[in-house]
Amino acid sequence: MSDAAGVDFFRSGALPAPLVSQAEAERIAAAQFGLAARARPLGSQQDSNFLLTGTEGPVLGVLKIANPAFTAAEIQAQDAAAGHLAATVGGLRVGTVRHGPVTVTTASGPAAARVLRYLPGGTLTGPGYLAPAVVAGLGTIAGEVSRGLRYFTHPGLDRVLQWDLRHADRLVARLAGQVRDPGLRSGVQEAARQAWSRVQPLAAHLPWQAVHLDVTDDNVVCRTRDGLRCPDGVIDFGDLTTTWAICELAVTITSVLHHAGAEPCSTMPAIRAFHQIRPLSFEEAAVLWPLVVLRAAVLVVSGEQQAAIDAGNAYVTGSLDHERQMFTQATSVPPDVMTALILADLGLRHPPLRVSGGSALRLGRCEILDLSSQSDVTDAGAWMEPELADRLATALLAGAGPGGVDAVATRFGEARLTASQVLAQVSPATVATGVDVWLGRPAELTAPWPGELTADGPDQLVLTGNGLALTLSWSGSGQVAAGPEVTGPEVTAGAKLVTLAGGSRLRVTLRAATAPPMPPLVRPEYAPGWLALAADPAPLLGLPPALGLPPAQGAPAEEDLLARREKSFAAVQELYYRHPPQIERGWRHHLAGTDGRVYLDMVNNVAVLGHAHPRIEAAVSRQLRRLNTNSRFNYAAVVDFTERLTALLPEPLDTVFLVNSGSEAVDLALRLSMAATGHRDVVAMREAYHGWTYATDAISTSTADNPNAVGTRPRWVHAVDAPNSYRGRYRGADACRYAPEAAQLIAGLAAGGRPPAAFVAEAFYGNAGGMALPDGYLAEVYAEVRHRGGLAIADEVQVGYGRLGEWFWGFEQQGVVPDIVTMAKAMGNGYPLGAVVTSRAVAERYRDQGYFFSSTGGSPVSAVVGLTVLDVIRDEGLQANAARVGAHLKARLEELATRHELIGAVHGSGLYLGVEFVRDRGTLEPATEQTWAICDRMLELGVIIQPTGDRMCVLKIKPPLCLDTDGADFFAATLDRVLTEGW
Ligand code: PMP
Repeated sequence: MSDAAGVDFFRSGALPAPLVSQAEAERIAAAQFGLAARARPLGSQQDSNFLLTGTEGPVLGVLKIANPAFTAAEIQAQDAAAGHLAATVGGLRVGTVRHGPVTVTTASGPAAARVLRYLPGGTLTGPGYLAPAVVAGLGTIAGEVSRGLRYFTHPGLDRVLQWDLRHADRLVARLAGQVRDPGLRSGVQEAARQAWSRVQPLAAHLPWQAVHLDVTDDNVVCRTRDGLRCPDGVIDFGDLTTTWAICELAVTITSVLHHAGAEPCSTMPAIRAFHQIRPLSFEEAAVLWPLVVLRAAVLVVSGEQQAAIDAGNAYVTGSLDHERQMFTQATSVPPDVMTALILADLGLRHPPLRVSGGSALRLGRCEILDLSSQSDVTDAGAWMEPELADRLATALLAGAGPGGVDAVATRFGEARLTASQVLAQVSPATVATGVDVWLGRPAELTAPWPGELTADGPDQLVLTGNGLALTLSWSGSGQVAAGPEVTGPEVTAGAKLVTLAGGSRLRVTLRAATAPPMPPLVRPEYAPGWLALAADPAPLLGLPPALGLPPAQGAPAEEDLLARREKSFAAVQELYYRHPPQIERGWRHHLAGTDGRVYLDMVNNVAVLGHAHPRIEAAVSRQLRRLNTNSRFNYAAVVDFTERLTALLPEPLDTVFLVNSGSEAVDLALRLSMAATGHRDVVAMREAYHGWTYATDAISTSTADNPNAVGTRPRWVHAVDAPNSYRGRYRGADACRYAPEAAQLIAGLAAGGRPPAAFVAEAFYGNAGGMALPDGYLAEVYAEVRHRGGLAIADEVQVGYGRLGEWFWGFEQQGVVPDIVTMAKAMGNGYPLGAVVTSRAVAERYRDQGYFFSSTGGSPVSAVVGLTVLDVIRDEGLQANAARVGAHLKARLEELATRHELIGAVHGSGLYLGVEFVRDRGTLEPATEQTWAICDRMLELGVIIQPTGDRMCVLKIKPPLCLDTDGADFFAATLDRVLTEGW
């Protein structure tokens, strides 16, 4: 029995919320606090809470009628702590007391009533997804509360709460019987027992202090910044007590675990954020996850008990599923692994696993099989072959010959691309916790040290000794030794353990004797945790240890690379993501991270054929072996290529200039138009991007690429409105008014003595997210510019080359023929290639400008690449695939638009599609921040997608044209999930 001055759960038992009706609450508000208010019940487990709104509608506060079991000192402590935090923690909103406390009579007895400050903005309650930044925000608030309450004392903190994790073991013991499902009951008991056994030995080292003990998703209030939630307030001090300081964080992060898609590693941002404000000691970090398990166990048993005694409390019954979910997640990864992960992440020392000498096997001549994404054996999509490692190892052994190898072995800690999965929302287990060996000749394994030997089935032995567990498992013919050395489970160093025949496969894993058994492969997010409990068994096999830290261990390799990049790379060259994965390999429409995670690539329009296309690789290497020079020499490839290009274009577009990029192509097109017309002015379309060179930058008015674009154009550039029929000045049928306006601008220029040299625009509006121009737009504008002596330039850099499905070129959609066409991107499948195609007459006028030469434009290799790209587009039917898969995908996205308000429109054709997000379908307010957040969440779920457009609220869907319906369906399903669960 405790002698706490305040409530003692173990004395008073369960504390059902006091019975107070809505009408009573309104009476209390009026009589006690003079507030004429409507009272709406808010959920609470042990108190009765009501939101009070005045007759005019403003929120007056929260009426809180405390559980009658709480003493006046306890209530005062809570109000004092709230006031203390409000006064001392800058920027933190706190639910402080405004009126009261007063004692009121309820059906459950006399209770303290008060009105608390209402913090608007909403909490994180509910099952929705919590983004890492939001989880970090939760951790920050928990950290600030913890730091703020560090020296807070009050007699009302002397209480024994069921939520205080110092009492978790006896609480679970007492309430477990309430859990009706026997499987869950024993699971909770066992997990709590194990967790408690990890906390107990360190308990004496855990600092104590006042804690809020309920800084959870339900009690953190958010302000909305740029449309996204941002935790900045804390309410409900009802569980305030003195206990281990670390309980604050344990309680907070447990509440993350029931949210959509959350798993143990999803809590890391909160742990890091807390640690930054209030650093964890080694012992605190070491007990954190066991405390999470205990918190989840306490929630499950308490929830079941509360539901049994307070069946009418919808808040309690509604929480049961969430509580079970938290428990399931808290126990989904062994606690020691989570502890090691947390320690590694926070940079706290984890006792290294000591392996002192010993030998199990001398493998002799052994070839190391590298299965990582950077290994050549994973070329050409070979990593997708299910038995690749077996096939390669067998071939290496068979082909070895007299000077060859005796064995083939893999590397410890390596992230294997061969273990990956495509189209997976959850990262697959790719990181090896041991070494796999293929034996070319018989091998006898011996005990490297004395220990206890256990047989775990017919093909697995575990030798435990020296604080280590060595696991040997094999397939093929193994014979467990039964010599004099193995007389019982105790074996001596050097004892024969098993003899394996040549052709057998062996797996060797080495872990701390106390560590949980290692799965052969673990997910990269948890690999630092697992690997901290394991050691590289290579030295026991006579092999060198795996070189350096494997990517999944210790500091993330991506961060090092980013730091190096920042040092040597101009900062204006932005990255796609704030935390980008390191990607070193692509195959078809997949991109592989170095951790073995494979992403669906929905943005790489340049890799039109798919990544790493073998025909490109073969053609380029063949040509590089033969000749690579410049187009002043006479060779066939450049002629073949220019003929192929002109054959793709209508008359009179029969003359080609080969360059290296889209920017160069558009720049040259501008110069051609000026040379041909003698005019100096150019009319371009607003919101466009045409390149980075001096001239192409001048005609680019996309504010997404340059926020000052519109205001800083040189005098020779004249912009017409973007003819956006969805959100522009003229919408729907009215969009036909853009063309006459553009024509008028051109006519006005001519009338003012500055007739334009050219009108330049994308023929299908790629930069706006793949929108078709209004019908007849280009016909009318081209006619006007020509009438004034200028030329029509179609920028096909993004949209041309078959991507639109129905049309090879965007201008075909408009039924026009430009005077000059620019192209790049898809032309080279990633190899730098660009072209300008025009009529002979226009090209001839360039002679007046002198000579045209580009050192690498049209080089033999460029020409061969260009030819091969066209061959593959034809041979693999990629334009037809774009039409077919694109139509399927567009239909799926349009179906999503019927269910998700955020989707304002689905634009595009073929595999150039745009999903435009709006906050309001009436005002079309762009959902810019939401779009960025959705892209981040899509990355977590295995999809690479980015925003486009001036408002950055359109998902630009322009994948390699080999995308299949499985990929399209995965994209649509993943977007559906994100829009459903939140971002
Ligand atoms: N024109 C358009 C329409 C483009 O989208 C781009 C590139 N995004 C360019 C020109 C410039 O091409 P590059 O990046 O190859 O110089």
